[in-house]
Amino acid sequence: MALMEMHHVAPVIRVRNVHKSFQNSNKMFKALTDVSLDILPGQIVGLIGASGSGKSTMLRHLAGLTTADLTDNSVTVLGRNVQSAGVIDRNIRTTRANIGFIFQQFNIVNRLSVLSNVLVGSLGRIPSWRGTAGWFTTAERMQALESLARVDMENFALQKASTLSGGQQQRVAIARALMQGAEVILADEPIASLDPISARNVMEILARINREDGRTVVVSLHQVDFALRYCERIVALKRGVVVFDGSSAAITSEMLHDIYGEKFSETCMEEKTFTSNQSICIPLEGTGMRAPESAGAMVS
Ligand code: ADP
Ligand code: MG
Repeated sequence: MALMEMHHVAPVIRVRNVHKSFQNSNKMFKALTDVSLDILPGQIVGLIGASGSGKSTMLRHLAGLTTADLTDNSVTVLGRNVQSAGVIDRNIRTTRANIGFIFQQFNIVNRLSVLSNVLVGSLGRIPSWRGTAGWFTTAERMQALESLARVDMENFALQKASTLSGGQQQRVAIARALMQGAEVILADEPIASLDPISARNVMEILARINREDGRTVVVSLHQVDFALRYCERIVALKRGVVVFDGSSAAITSEMLHDIYGEKFSETCMEEKTFTSNQSICIPLEGTGMRAPESAGAMVS
């Protein structure tokens, strides 16, 4: 869906004037400066920027995992207040139940089976004694299996999570977010610990659930080639400031050089994606979801 056509739609994520400072050994450090954003329902947004630019801090604000400075600012998700003026909403748990958070290090429980890890996703909705007792209904188990099928992991349901590869663990984490019923999925460098093939696999799954279910996805990616390939919209942070917000098709190599500085050459995961400083990855047409093998082609 074109960005321009949707401006009358109520945003699913709304960020206004967020500042975030950290106190580091007596020195104030500004991690985010005046960030404002509207993310529309069904968008898949790539959050890019060099290491330390504020991507994780940004995503944590969206989920209410960290508070902004005590200024006039607000974060709302799905029309509900997450935080305003640096104070987390008292009903954050209800809102968080609709937000799936995918971490770089998978955050799954190694000693549990794959299926149990997915069933954990339903804990926000069922009485806590049932979850503690490991008492799930047949319908819930069926739903967990369906979630696993959507990430091509249904054959691993009874396997212990610790036996899975990183890419498989990340797919289980996505299945857990599906089980949770998350309408918004925030993924913080979900492919940073994966080899390129697993990385592509995980990105294709995120893009597929965005496309097929209309779930809104915000994914931070150090690897700019993946961001351009899978995300229709890019938000770029540089030292905590949004320096680009627009269609991935509008990104040029000059902008990337500016965003990443001399670290630019390290930002492509797949080899030879950027061979000269005139070359940038071509995002796919439209929403950029169906990635053929040639998607890493270049323009020069
Ligand atoms: P990114 O995810 O883009 O690598 P982060 O959001 O993790 O960046 O960090 C942005 C900046 O804020 C970095 O300089 C980092 O050192 C600093 N920072 C992040 N979290 C904390 C914290 N809890 N305490 C102090 N400084 C922090
Ligand atoms: Mg980070």
